[in-house]
Amino acid sequence: MEALSTGISTEFRIGAPAIAFDFDGTLIDSGLDKGIHIMCAVWSAFKLNGLGHYLHEDDIRTDIDLMLTAYVKYPGAPRFQQLSALANSLIHHIPSSIDEDKLEVLPDEIRERYSQIKASFNHTYSRLNDTAAALYWKPFPLVHSTLRRLVGKHDLYIASGVTEDLLFEDLERHSFDRQLFRGIYGGNKSGGSDKAELLHTIQAKGYPDVLFVADSNRDLLYAQQAGARFFRIRKNRDFIRLAKSLEQGLPDEQETWSYTPEELDFFFRKTGTIIRMVLRKGDYKNYKKMTEIIHDSDSRH
Ligand SMILES: [Mg+2]
Repeated sequence: MEALSTGISTEFRIGAPAIAFDFDGTLIDSGLDKGIHIMCAVWSAFKLNGLGHYLHEDDIRTDIDLMLTAYVKYPGAPRFQQLSALANSLIHHIPSSIDEDKLEVLPDEIRERYSQIKASFNHTYSRLNDTAAALYWKPFPLVHSTLRRLVGKHDLYIASGVTEDLLFEDLERHSFDRQLFRGIYGGNKSGGSDKAELLHTIQAKGYPDVLFVADSNRDLLYAQQAGARFFRIRKNRDFIRLAKSLEQGLPDEQETWSYTPEELDFFFRKTGTIIRMVLRKGDYKNYKKMTEIIHDSDSRH
């Protein structure tokens, strides 16, 4: 991963603390969509690549249960790590990711086709994200004003798992002023980027303290690995809480959290509705309809 130039001088103010923001789910309100996209993309990749015998078409709930058990351990993780965890759960009922150099634990038919499954999953997942980003995802309402307020006393960065080409497109799409950031760091295309490394890169510029503002337990883990402080964004009002806490210095919130029963139910219902629709129509490419289902007002969380 490489820093892309933001056109800002690399000099920084001595003593100004650094704040690194995650992008998706933190600056952009993408709701629970990505979790649903991941599950639908994994399920489709199995179905479309001759692995339907691992699925339960007559009892979709079983498949969602297996995938969700894995997903809740990996929100905010690189996408291919999420893929391996969900695949492992569907195949072996073990909801843990598999390192790319340990794929021998997978059945031969899957290992032999793993790059094909990865490509198929990646395509569906990217198209679902692109569609939702264009139609539904917006910055939290307080994002732009909070960034403008913080930039006076802090050095701001972005440290995101999204690949840098997509990250820059999204910054453009949502009218972010790149000049507000001293560095904008994204993931690499292999999906192996690690936000802990990005935080290390920022620290290495000489900051005694870095605050990572992000939205998932996995992000908290990255902050801990990098020795950075952590602040969680979940709702728009958290930006008020962030600005207030920063008046007293850099906050550090170390509590982990889990999805609420309502959120788990939302994942379940929406993923189930999409997979049943896809099966009924035999159309695995109607990304617009799939994202529409998630955003049906009757059941938006
Ligand atoms: Mg995030």
